[in-house]
Amino acid sequence: MQVKILGSAAGGGFPQWNCTCPNCYAVRGGQFCGKARSQTQVAVRTDDGPWFLLGASPDLRSQIESSPDLQPLSETRSSPISGVVLASADLDHTLGLLLLRELQPFKVWAAESVIQILRGENSMFRMLNRVADQVRWTTIRAGVRFTLKSLVGNDSGIGCMPIAVSSCYPAYANREPQSDEAVVGLILTAPSGSKVGFFPQLALLTPEVKSVFAKLDCLLLDGTFWSDDELIRLQGSGQRAREMGHIPVGGEDGTLQQLAELSTPRKMYIHINNTNPMLNEAGAEYRAVRDAGWELAEDGCHFKL
Ligand SMILES: [Zn+2]
Repeated sequence: MQVKILGSAAGGGFPQWNCTCPNCYAVRGGQFCGKARSQTQVAVRTDDGPWFLLGASPDLRSQIESSPDLQPLSETRSSPISGVVLASADLDHTLGLLLLRELQPFKVWAAESVIQILRGENSMFRMLNRVADQVRWTTIRAGVRFTLKSLVGNDSGIGCMPIAVSSCYPAYANREPQSDEAVVGLILTAPSGSKVGFFPQLALLTPEVKSVFAKLDCLLLDGTFWSDDELIRLQGSGQRAREMGHIPVGGEDGTLQQLAELSTPRKMYIHINNTNPMLNEAGAEYRAVRDAGWELAEDGCHFKL
């Protein structure tokens, strides 16, 4: 299975259009020891099979244009992208669907409530079904494995298991929390049996989630914030990381410390907010992450499992 990381930043990207935090200021000025990043986007496929997107980021158009093997090859209108698996209804994770609206058929897998939020409550997404069989929506459930199939129903060989990780819907959805649907992590299993976990949002690190992580060959984990009060310290106000459904990376109860014993062969932080000090490769936080055996996901990174 091929895994392509097309984007690795949290919502807003790095730099973020309205931000002059020390990281954004420095990267714009060319003075930053580290890399700019587009909003998180991952794609998977088996060799020569169609691509499946994990989420659809607001930067999807430029991410496809920067990756030749995701571009159309022959017909006037075509795409090697067969489908999109949605882990939540977050805007950073779904707005890219609207960029895929040019009458191109593809599949979308998502929880029932996520489909209802997009299709039932947000009329713009009707552009994805202007014609019959344009986008084909399939319901997924936490704990129920499914197979990624091409548009014509061919089995890609890649299995996908959604794992419930947060009960909170995005603010715009104005919905009561629902524990098994709002946000899931995704475990992708290659035909070889190798597994990659995609968890760009993790609200709680339970023993069950830890045991799931222990069986992976590669973990892509929520690296949104370094500290719980990161935004408050920078802006003077705002929400804590945990209030936003993100366990911070640093600190005694952060994921770096809580997962110190995790022996997963490859461990990468993804969905990194522009304010996170670990983006600075000259800084102590970056060194702490690397010394603990973790990597920071970067745009353009790709590997095989
Ligand atoms: Zn910033």
